[in-house]
Amino acid sequence: MTQRVTIVGAGLAGCEAAYRLARAGLEVDLWEMKPSRRSPAHVLDGPCELVCSNSLRSDNPLNAVGLLHEELRKLDSLVLSVADETRVPAGDALAVDRERFSRRVAERLAARPEIRRRDGEVTALPGGPGLALVATGPLTGDALAAELQALCGGRLAFYDAIAPIISAESIDMKVAYAKSRYDKGSGPDYLNLPLDEAQYGAFVEALLAGEKVAPHAFEEPRYFDGCLPIEVMAERGREVLAHGPLKPVGLEDPRTGRRPHAVVQLRREDLAGTAWNLVGFQTRLTWPEQRRIFRALPGLAGAEFQRLGQVHRNTFVDAPRVLAADLSVKALPHLFLAGQLTGVEGYVESAACGHLAARAIIDRLAGRPFQPPPAVTALGALLRHLTGEAHPPGHGHQPSNVIFALFPPLPGRVHGGKEGRKLAHVERARKELVSWIS
Ligand SMILES: Cc1cc2nc3c(=O)[nH]c(=O)nc-3n(C[C@H](O)[C@H](O)[C@H](O)COP(=O)(O)OP(=O)(O)OC[C@H]3O[C@@H](n4cnc5c(N)ncnc54)[C@H](O)[C@@H]3O)c2cc1C
Repeated sequence: MTQRVTIVGAGLAGCEAAYRLARAGLEVDLWEMKPSRRSPAHVLDGPCELVCSNSLRSDNPLNAVGLLHEELRKLDSLVLSVADETRVPAGDALAVDRERFSRRVAERLAARPEIRRRDGEVTALPGGPGLALVATGPLTGDALAAELQALCGGRLAFYDAIAPIISAESIDMKVAYAKSRYDKGSGPDYLNLPLDEAQYGAFVEALLAGEKVAPHAFEEPRYFDGCLPIEVMAERGREVLAHGPLKPVGLEDPRTGRRPHAVVQLRREDLAGTAWNLVGFQTRLTWPEQRRIFRALPGLAGAEFQRLGQVHRNTFVDAPRVLAADLSVKALPHLFLAGQLTGVEGYVESAACGHLAARAIIDRLAGRPFQPPPAVTALGALLRHLTGEAHPPGHGHQPSNVIFALFPPLPGRVHGGKEGRKLAHVERARKELVSWIS
């Protein structure tokens, strides 16, 4: 194959994709706006910059992101191979020296004669008929973001408000009760944790006093009213939460018949009910403070967090609506999207998404249908998130890390509790990935 593909954005997704395409013998133009222009979070001149933490999170395959590491290594991923090479000690996490990491990615890309590095900001979506991949990340340049917004019918999210997700088995079901507000809907889709007045008051105090992550200068004033951080709502008045996300109306406790002073609601994150989202708990509290404050709530003393809350500026499309299953834009099939722009969250997930988009491009150019990874693998689970298959109807597309809740449920009963279930996921994924690769 000697076709030429344009990639915009030399971040985690763009670099991974460029390398994969080059290895398949394709010519690549890789556009990057740094160093002539940079987002408010990027500081290095080189590609594949880790803008915040230097950690690619857990390397343990019993953690979904660790399984994703393992799968990407098996697929000869550029990002994983350079991360292994530039690793620094960090327990079971895969952390790297970020400057060496970026430098080594640059060297590995420069060593591929198929890749031509192009400098400058791209301000318009690449036209066809040649295939193009846009991977400009959560802080996409304004002009290109405006073009994407037009393409998505005005619906391009600019904010990322993430609430924590909790494993089902870590919620105390002697405290929680299942009920939808006014018993509406097809069944009890929510779990509810009742709070009396004293418990509610203590929770509000803890939110106000808890340590927060300092926002970046470019993020500060732009909260959407629909997704205010929980501590910002608490600052507006002691009872504001009890009239907002913790409203008890229609949620009388069936065991007492009484309405609690306030109710913390948990919404189903996956069809199987293995993971639950703390409704309205998007927050800037630091991660240790979230664990401390949320575990003090009734029923959550043993809470295992699959994801913690965050708020930062983001740019992502409503992927289930806008993208086809091969990550091409339904309205512009020559154009593919990858990385955080699609609504995956995190360095590794973005690299994985770049890898998948490159495979889809290779399949398209080879004239065969896209061969997606098996749904039961971590790569497949990410794709399920982007097509919407991993979520109940009406869930709404929000950025997500890779978590076991995105995987198809395990068939039948699994022994060994939580660890047994994780192991069953891992074994099933390993088996299927091997046959897919072969
Ligand atoms: C403030 C902040 C903190 C974060 N912290 C973490 C963290 O701790 N851990 C984590 O896993 N994830 C974190 N993320 C998410 C992180 O950004 C993604 O995980 C990852 O970097 C996304 O990869 P990507 O390839 O999609 O985008 P990026 O890695 O951002 O790459 C996009 C590239 O495109 C370039 N670009 C943008 N617009 C244009 C244009 N118009 N023309 C040419 N080039 C362009 C950019 O300069 C950049 O190099 C954070 C994000 C933000 C905004």
